[in-house]
Amino acid sequence: MTKLVSPTGKPIPLRPMRANARLEAIYRKKLLKLVDDMNDSILYWLSASYKAFDAEMAQDANPIKALQKTVKELALRWLKNFKVGADKLAEWHTNAVLNMTDSQLQGTLKDAGFTVKMQMTESMQAAYDAVIAEQVGLITNISVQQSAQIETLVMQSVQAGRDLKTLTDELESRFGITRRRAKLIARDQNNKATQTLTRQRQKDLGITQAIWRHSHAGKVPRPSHVKADGKTYDLDKGMYLDGEWTFPSLQVNCRCYSVPQISGWVD
Ligand SMILES: [Zn+2]
Repeated sequence: MTKLVSPTGKPIPLRPMRANARLEAIYRKKLLKLVDDMNDSILYWLSASYKAFDAEMAQDANPIKALQKTVKELALRWLKNFKVGADKLAEWHTNAVLNMTDSQLQGTLKDAGFTVKMQMTESMQAAYDAVIAEQVGLITNISVQQSAQIETLVMQSVQAGRDLKTLTDELESRFGITRRRAKLIARDQNNKATQTLTRQRQKDLGITQAIWRHSHAGKVPRPSHVKADGKTYDLDKGMYLDGEWTFPSLQVNCRCYSVPQISGWVD
């Protein structure tokens, strides 16, 4: 593979590869829509079944099985909906990030005097597929986790003889946690997709190094990531921080990013 080398011998830093805030906002909005639709539906159907349950309890029947069935059916339906939604969302987002970062990278390379062609190489395809797979896994997991917790909540509520209002309050607070998780996924995955796709692109184009940049955006920064700010690392290996090899935006809540650099002669 050809390696891009600075003609003057001095390393040339390119423009930073940063996640696009607009893409994150759209991603978050779409993901929250999926989550809110699920939450609204769960609240609606559970309220209806819970009321029916109360009425039947008054008649001395045992409607607990019917309620259990409702919860199970809801869970199944939303698992299915989430899989469809996750596939669509992940593909849209990964494509959008790839298009955006490709033109950014091409632009900054052109300014540095290098004309490159973007091709869907095998390794690029693998990176692209991995980004999609991770997102689909995380998004579908939202509904898996929530379904399990709601099933437990409903049954506990029935056994303790709690009223609908108490159950609804508990569900609402559960929904709040799910929404926060969805927002975190949108931000993290937007950062991570940007770094993962650009890293593979750069490697394919013969760029071998990048500079680590700390975003200074989070409230609780990892001290090692703050210290890594400005340091050069190998795109093959990443940076050795806190006992492991890592890359910007690879870990949860990491908003670090990279500045690719064309190497000089001596390397
Ligand atoms: Zn970081």
